[in-house]
Amino acid sequence: MGAAVIIAVDGPAAAGKGTLARRLAAAYALPYMDTGLLYRAVGRRVLDAGADPRDAALALQAAQALTPADLDRPDLRGPIADMAASAVAAMPAVRAALLDFQRRFGRAQGAVMDGRDIGTVIFPDATAKLFVTASPSVRAARRHRELEGRGIAADYAQVLAEIRDRDAQDANRPVAPLKPADDALLLDTSALDADAAFSAAMALLAPRLNAG
Ligand code: C5P
Repeated sequence: MGAAVIIAVDGPAAAGKGTLARRLAAAYALPYMDTGLLYRAVGRRVLDAGADPRDAALALQAAQALTPADLDRPDLRGPIADMAASAVAAMPAVRAALLDFQRRFGRAQGAVMDGRDIGTVIFPDATAKLFVTASPSVRAARRHRELEGRGIAADYAQVLAEIRDRDAQDANRPVAPLKPADDALLLDTSALDADAAFSAAMALLAPRLNAG
């Protein structure tokens, strides 16, 4: 005992990880980190330089120069930022540069962290691991609604195509590919709203977190 409590929440884009992880953090009084923002901010820095996010040298420089203020940028969401994040996230050197940052955050006071590889790479010994999924069409519908809610016109078919592209890019990369940890608890939110997903997650986590 004595180790910080870490809850890993991994899964594909728009599966509902962020909403769920924030609520779990509040319920367990733990700090929360959206690790996707780290990759988004690195991708943004490369785009700022007028370069291609697949430029490995620039992406590494951007990862090493990242500051907490980068995570507060207002332009970290949207299709261009999505694909830039996924591109830089495929680079081993970028991932290595962000690994210590994530571990330090989690070890300080425990954490709920959402991402793709929290349970497999960042905290393989996490207290509990959730792998949150939903069908591509449900995820595309949610993302489409979210974009429209923010006043951004979006085409459902295009949103679905982008989700499928990003799934493929995240799942097929050689380094830290998106896959459930062997000991992850699986939660499919296709038929669940945010409240139902939260209740289901709390029920899955209870045996691990209340075990003393
Ligand atoms: O979760 P989010 O959609 O914000 O993540 C953006 C991109 O960052 C993902 O498509 C993925 O490529 C990458 N990512 C990652 N590892 C994480 C979090 C995000 O590779 N822990």
